[in-house]
Amino acid sequence: MLVAEGAEKFAHKEGFERKNMLTDRAKAHYRKRIKEMAAQAAAKELKPYSGHDTVGMVCLDGKGKMTAATSTSGLFMKKKGRVGDSPVSGSGFYADSKKGAASATGLGEDLMKGCISYEIVRLMGEGMHPQEACETAVNRLDGELRERRGEAGDISLIAMNPKGEWGAATNIEGFSFAVVTEELEPTVYLVTRGEDGRCTYEKASEEWMETYMKTRMAPIEE
Ligand code: ASP
Repeated sequence: MLVAEGAEKFAHKEGFERKNMLTDRAKAHYRKRIKEMAAQAAAKELKPYSGHDTVGMVCLDGKGKMTAATSTSGLFMKKKGRVGDSPVSGSGFYADSKKGAASATGLGEDLMKGCISYEIVRLMGEGMHPQEACETAVNRLDGELRERRGEAGDISLIAMNPKGEWGAATNIEGFSFAVVTEELEPTVYLVTRGEDGRCTYEKASEEWMETYMKTRMAPIEE
């Protein structure tokens, strides 16, 4: 596992393009959040950790090889030096071509407590369908955290097994994910979590897709 200068040198040697990923939009978003946090009334509700958006993926190739990946942590306003779960094997992602692969998003501090991606792959290895494995691991960790300290951070996972079967589970409202297979064109699904912790999903409507894009592109009022 390479970090800091060593990782940069390696990336450079491998031909990765060096560019500034800090967009004007992200800067405006940051300035807005700083203002909101400074305003007393809002500071009570706003935590530095509200908002996360890591992109995670699991893949199965034509030769039966499985991989999992995450973007660098999408947690907004994180502390300097904080690593989080996203680059940590077993927590943010895990893949074993014989058992399956999983990838996580949510509050890293909590995801790491359950080594959640590893746990899902382990459950798939014991024969669980990816959907059951995701629900079992998410609900167990959510339950343990709530029992321990009365609350749990956001926990959302996707997984796939070597047969190409897939699943997703979450402990929040509004988790969405996308699937593409040889039979299925790229499809976005929205997850609903029932009171019993079971997660069901339905195809996102055109209207939802449009609103999603509009919100993401809307100018940020500072
Ligand atoms: N899991 C990430 C972290 O805590 C945040 C995210 O999923 O967006 O660093």
